[in-house]
Amino acid sequence: MYFSAVEKMPLSELRALQNARLSALVKRVYEQVPFYREQFDRIGLLPDDIRTVDDLPKLPFTKKDDLRDNYPFGMFSEPMTNISRIHASSGTTGKPTVVGYTPNDLNVFKEVVARSLYCAGARPGMKLHNAYGYGLFTGGLGMHDGATHLGMAVIPVSGGMTERQITILQDFKPEVICCTPSYAQTLAEEMYKRGIDTETLAVKYAILGAEPWTEAIRSQVEAGLNVTATNIYGLSEIIGPGVSQEDHEEKGTGSYIWEDHFFPEVVDKDTGETLPYGQEGVLVFTTLSKEAFPLLRYWTNDICSIQYDENAKRSHIKMSAIKGRADDMLIIRGVNLFHTQVEEVIHQMDFLSPNYRLIVEKKGAMDTVRVEVETTENGLTNMDYLSQQLRGKIKDSIGLSMDIALVAPHSIPRSQGGKLSRILDKR
Ligand code: ADP
Repeated sequence: MYFSAVEKMPLSELRALQNARLSALVKRVYEQVPFYREQFDRIGLLPDDIRTVDDLPKLPFTKKDDLRDNYPFGMFSEPMTNISRIHASSGTTGKPTVVGYTPNDLNVFKEVVARSLYCAGARPGMKLHNAYGYGLFTGGLGMHDGATHLGMAVIPVSGGMTERQITILQDFKPEVICCTPSYAQTLAEEMYKRGIDTETLAVKYAILGAEPWTEAIRSQVEAGLNVTATNIYGLSEIIGPGVSQEDHEEKGTGSYIWEDHFFPEVVDKDTGETLPYGQEGVLVFTTLSKEAFPLLRYWTNDICSIQYDENAKRSHIKMSAIKGRADDMLIIRGVNLFHTQVEEVIHQMDFLSPNYRLIVEKKGAMDTVRVEVETTENGLTNMDYLSQQLRGKIKDSIGLSMDIALVAPHSIPRSQGGKLSRILDKR
């Protein structure tokens, strides 16, 4: 473990730490961020009314639109003289939001990324092939600093230029790679196409995040790159990558949220009510230790559940894999649908690859979904049977009839390095 004293901290101590940090945070934002002062004043609350994390539900949520209304620096709680770095979200769902870091924030950032890397299997002395984009996106620099802090040698490849990525994997022999899961799929396929024997590579661990993914992609990437693949989650508003991480020996049981810095809640997406552990809803974070860009109850829009795991190595709560963003949820003839649900069904079938997209169209007054999915080479002779099977399985598990279009391998657009959109909405 990277920092056992914290990662294994008994829950009662963790709560005391969170409460102390929260009280200080609330006082600071009330004094230093006009947006929060107005919010407190409007609902008649004083900082002293928020003493423990159990008081958080008294506060309204902070949403992406609030950040956009205060674009670019209106939510900063420190003067520019104390800011060391500025990043922005990828802008996947509109105008990017701008975030800032003090020197202390950058220390926290590299500490949580170092913890995450260790949790994923990385160790000091290993090399990290960092294929997250460098630049305003937090992925590249965030992983870079964390890896350096852990004592790794970083290869700052950034995204894209697949040919070069493969050469580096072959020649520099990194033990760890990080990138988006869709780009890991691209790399795995390109290696296969070139007949590269993955036994000749040194890469052992892949740390994948920045977009939703399921066990279907894990299987493909683990087999294709000969690695153990784990999930890293984060968002620029909260800090960047390293808000949570899955342990390489506890795969599939969720990702640890580094609760000493980021307090999570899961709330009902319609009513905003806090949900019990284990129930799925919108993930909301309060940044307990951030200085430049602190947020109270930030509505991430990401759908998952959180739960403590008594059998786990660490005491921190775990979050399930993100099903999707609330605003990426399709409502098709009254049924809620995330593309990851289709991905899970594809995973149950042989001869289909997790290269797919959903095409949403209006036919008359009806919304329809067509699933375009690639077969493997072996599936090519059985397309009719496979389509029928997939259609039936989707109907049974999701409750929707979808058109199926099986297509030949390599005909669906691939990730060129960043996040890949798997939904084509033609409505
Ligand atoms: P943007 O919201 O513009 O894409 P970011 O680059 O900060 O901005 O990305 C953060 C978002 O990326 C998260 O809110 C979430 O939707 C998605 N994301 C990040 N990591 C994961 C992950 N491991 N699984 C699923 N989604 C993720």
